[in-house]
Amino acid sequence: MPTCWLISEEGNHRPIQLPHLQTVVVGRGPETTIKDKKCSRQQVELRAECNKGYVKVKQLGLNPTSVDSVVVGKGSEVKIKPGQHLHVVNQLYPYTVQFKEDPTGNRSDTKRPRDPMSEDRVKTVKQTEKDSLSDGHGGATKTNESAGHWSQGLKTSMHDPKMQVYKDDKVVVIKDKYPKARYHWLVLPWQSIPSLKALRPEHCELLKHMQQVAQRMVQQCPDCGSLSFRTGYHAIPSLSHLHLHVISQDFDSPCLKNKKHWNSFTTDYFMDAQHVIQMLETSGKVTVEDGNEELLKRPLRCHRCPKECPTMPALKEHLRSHSHK
Ligand code: AMP
Ligand code: ZN
Repeated sequence: MPTCWLISEEGNHRPIQLPHLQTVVVGRGPETTIKDKKCSRQQVELRAECNKGYVKVKQLGLNPTSVDSVVVGKGSEVKIKPGQHLHVVNQLYPYTVQFKEDPTGNRSDTKRPRDPMSEDRVKTVKQTEKDSLSDGHGGATKTNESAGHWSQGLKTSMHDPKMQVYKDDKVVVIKDKYPKARYHWLVLPWQSIPSLKALRPEHCELLKHMQQVAQRMVQQCPDCGSLSFRTGYHAIPSLSHLHLHVISQDFDSPCLKNKKHWNSFTTDYFMDAQHVIQMLETSGKVTVEDGNEELLKRPLRCHRCPKECPTMPALKEHLRSHSHK
């Protein structure tokens, strides 16, 4: 498989490798030499698909990132191919992507730390769960869980072999019981970590492993070619025990019922896994801004375009116009 490289057209630094199907976040900082305050430290997320010859570009920062002068838009994603121009922010800092055949014939991902998860260990996931009252966001106060309080539901599920789709010595992946999209998994560490607040620098490696496992879940998904995914944490989770959401961006699910559900996955309430890792690496802890609850009350805005919808059915109808990409 070819390797993929991000090239500064101004020659400001050496090419940055974009490993196959791994997210790489670039922005202001020593790696790019960009010092411009208008450029966020996490301005753009890049994800190379080396077998397909393109890179997915997602704007994370507030100010515009563009591909061939077309603004991507915060939270949106476009593809860039060799020959096209990426401007990191405000039509500045031009980059291109290049794919190079690997002369050794090695896979481009061989530099990744060894991951105990092999392809055949990940079972295919079927989205067969039924709706229920016990739900994370605004869904319910009642529960069918037999093992205690509803907030402990994940602890029950993670130990249930029927819910597990992958496990290794550090983490387990379960299907979200009330999936808010066609594919929705939760990655949980075996280690008891109640929430983001409990994270300390020594958890960095674990978080990175959780993210790697999440990315493998996406890779083995039969629809990963046509669906995009996000991996992240809810700023204020409703259920105890740290869990990383891996969710496809179609949001095509009967369990996605209300504004709280929608906003918990499409506003800054959803904290990208990469961002959380970087926060832990730079400040030794993860801080959650005050006022996150307010994000859940925001109007129903499409995650792909500026359209606001008055009701959930109207939003769902509008989402169909984006053909689930
Ligand atoms: P949050 O706490 O906001 O991060 O969300 C918790 C997630 O867990 C939601 O997406 C729920 O649909 C899901 N969920 C709730 N109860 C269970 C359970 N018993 N097993 C698996 N997933 C669950
Ligand atoms: Zn839209």
